Amino acid sequence: MKVLKFGGTSVGSVSSITTLLQIVKNEVEEGERPVVVLSAMSGVTNLLINMAEQAAKGNEFTAQLAELERRHFDVVKSLLDIQNQNPAFTRLKIHFNQLEELLQGVLTLRELTAKTRDLIVSFGERCSTLMISKIAAQHFGNAFFVDASEVLKTDSAFGNARVDTALSELLIRDLYASNTDKVLFITGFIASNEAGQITTLGRGGSDYTAAIFGAALNAQEIQIWTDVNGMMTADPRMVKKAFPLSELTYTEAMELSYFGAKVIYPPTMIPAFLKKIPIVIKNTFEPEFAGTVIQHQSKASNQPIKGISSINNISILNLMGSGMVGKSGFSGRLFSLLAREQINVILITQSSSEHSITFAIQPGDAKRAKAIIEQEFELEILANKLEPITVEENLAILAVVGENMKQTPGVSGKLFHALGRNGVNVRAIAQGSSEYNISVIISEHDLAKALNAVHDAFFVDLYKTLHAFCLGTGNIGKTLFSQLNAHADFLRNENGIQVKVVGISNTRKMTFDADGIELNNWQASLDESNDKADLRLFIDTMKSMNLPNCVFIDNTASPVPVEFYEEVLNSAISVVTCNKIGNSGSYSRYKAFKDAARTHGVDFFYETNVGAGLPIIRTLRDLMNSGDRVQRIEAILSGTISFIFNQFKGDANFHDVVKLAQEKGYTEPDPRDDLRGTDFMRKILILARDAGHTLEAADVQIESILPTACLDAATVDDFYAALKAEDAYFTNLKQQAESGGKVLRYIGKLEDGKASITLQMVDENHPFYMLSGSDNIISFTTDRYKERPLVVKGPGAGAEVTAAGVFADLVNVGAN
Ligand code: ADP
Ligand code: ASP
Ligand code: MG
Repeated sequence: MKVLKFGGTSVGSVSSITTLLQIVKNEVEEGERPVVVLSAMSGVTNLLINMAEQAAKGNEFTAQLAELERRHFDVVKSLLDIQNQNPAFTRLKIHFNQLEELLQGVLTLRELTAKTRDLIVSFGERCSTLMISKIAAQHFGNAFFVDASEVLKTDSAFGNARVDTALSELLIRDLYASNTDKVLFITGFIASNEAGQITTLGRGGSDYTAAIFGAALNAQEIQIWTDVNGMMTADPRMVKKAFPLSELTYTEAMELSYFGAKVIYPPTMIPAFLKKIPIVIKNTFEPEFAGTVIQHQSKASNQPIKGISSINNISILNLMGSGMVGKSGFSGRLFSLLAREQINVILITQSSSEHSITFAIQPGDAKRAKAIIEQEFELEILANKLEPITVEENLAILAVVGENMKQTPGVSGKLFHALGRNGVNVRAIAQGSSEYNISVIISEHDLAKALNAVHDAFFVDLYKTLHAFCLGTGNIGKTLFSQLNAHADFLRNENGIQVKVVGISNTRKMTFDADGIELNNWQASLDESNDKADLRLFIDTMKSMNLPNCVFIDNTASPVPVEFYEEVLNSAISVVTCNKIGNSGSYSRYKAFKDAARTHGVDFFYETNVGAGLPIIRTLRDLMNSGDRVQRIEAILSGTISFIFNQFKGDANFHDVVKLAQEKGYTEPDPRDDLRGTDFMRKILILARDAGHTLEAADVQIESILPTACLDAATVDDFYAALKAEDAYFTNLKQQAESGGKVLRYIGKLEDGKASITLQMVDENHPFYMLSGSDNIISFTTDRYKERPLVVKGPGAGAEVTAAGVFADLVNVGAN
């Protein structure tokens, strides 16, 4: 036979009750005689507790009571035939009247004892089970209501009573044996003490009722029917990517549920474990799904962990002092004291020097725990052998669980790496000696981020999610969005990466969506947003959203965002930027970015600062990292100037060529911003710094292409006029070059720590002679590439290639 337990949501509505009955009916039709254990309708236990507490404070409860009645009566009306409704109404009404009397008593006395509270709460299971057994009787005649308090015997620890297993098993077997022709519908959660007073088994305890019945009756299986597809790798409400596990051992299920996986009540595993009865967790709302089997052994798996669980809202107490060192019995005294006072200790860690003990408890117990410890260890505190006890609040426990951890080195490394990269501070660590679990205590505020980051780190078969906050919706920003959109499937399938753009801002508006902004519709999201652009607020929102694997992307050319880089990196958020202003500012700032990234274990990527998408920064970094030394760098890193000199030949005049370049969109609005060499200078400066030189912008010597008259012109129009006027100057340069079989090239150079940009005439033997369109070229002469330099060449400007470079940086975030 099997035990089938249905939880709150499974008995919470007309449609779920209909499904439930179908599931039971299928069993019956297969000739089985299952035992059915039921919870209260969803939310009812909380409602009852709330009413009782309100009554004890002198507050009214009638409205809630009416609501409770209505929920049950609605089900009766929908699912029972007319002629069967009245008896059901009568039985239920008797219960509600009793309940009302009890609550009235609490209200009158303004007192709510644990005993009364259990009695009040028991009406949840009694009403639901009574009602469903009546409906079931209509479906398959022999359904029989059982109040479990008649057979489940416990001690008198109201609220969390301990079961007298031997006695209860006897009574259960008796009950089953004397009702051979019936299908029993049993109240979960409730029991009674020796005196016959109602007790309860702890919140979520209906699962436990099922296990006790299963063990007593040697069931072949205990089924826990709930509202998810089994035990999942993490709490699905916190981790969207959590997925159901097909198998777990009792120990793993116990560890996961003990540390917060609410789907099954931890003590449930014990009776099942002792009798080796498999527990199967199934979904009432998707009955065909196989669910999770919990049994003695599970099939070999290559995952180092099975799941991640968490407990929110805990407090920790710290005890510190020399009085503990080498004192045998100190922790014995401490923990017996807590046990005596019924303070449940969730987790303990002790430093190896024995200088300190930290333990986690429910916040409600913290004050009392502190007081009794101070009382117990008064002498030690007076003698300064124990420091004043400190309490820390608003913490959470995150635990990774799995039996494979034992054989797999590096599990804790992976855990701490994921936490560290996301700026999650670990307050305390505990590893069970069983090595089935590693638990860390972190701030509650970081829990969701930590859970998702750790989930991404361990379940690599899934894809990893990067959360991107993007500044700038100009050409590059726009193109990046369309590239991300077009390649989303490929990225996910081939690289295991999902990029969610969760924040966008331009200079006018900003918008956020933690679930990801639709990239084929980002413009509308931004237009429709009510949030005016505010960079300070943008950064604050990004921080407070506290998402895992965050990347801040600067696709602007503005100095304003740069002011925030350091703060962003210090918040453990990676930065990807095509904006050159940051790295080409003062050296100390450049260094501060690098240091902040290193300190916080995040990435600071700026491949597109030099040569757009060409692999220049990366190549230099690889050379340096592999121990090579750069002797010389020569480069043409201005696509605009390349284009201009490539066009400036034969009959062409300089003025027209510059105009053409502007019309083709190759120049800044004021072409002098390119021709002055400032942009080029920034690139050379960044390269020099990456090559290890502490240069400032002023150290880069720039030979101007333009005569003073052109540089000084007041407006862009004046500038063009000046270009025309200086035609002779340019023509002369051109002729000089052409007559020697040479071409004009504006070349940056780094050698012996000195950087310069000069206008040169090079002949066909020079590697830069052949350069077409707006291409960039760079040659690295290094200790290894001495005879023939390493050359990178290709298009070094344009929205497509720049956005592609930003894209590449983005997907490389966290790769190492
Ligand atoms: P029931 O009322 O059926 O007993 P519970 O609410 O007690 O159901 O437990 C089921 C809920 O547990 C799920 O809806 C899910 O939100 C939550 N949960 C938390 N952690 C996990 C996990 N690791 N796997 C599955 N569910 C989990
Ligand atoms: N109804 C009880 C509770 O909500 C028991 C259970 O659902 O398992 O805690
Ligand atoms: Mg439950």
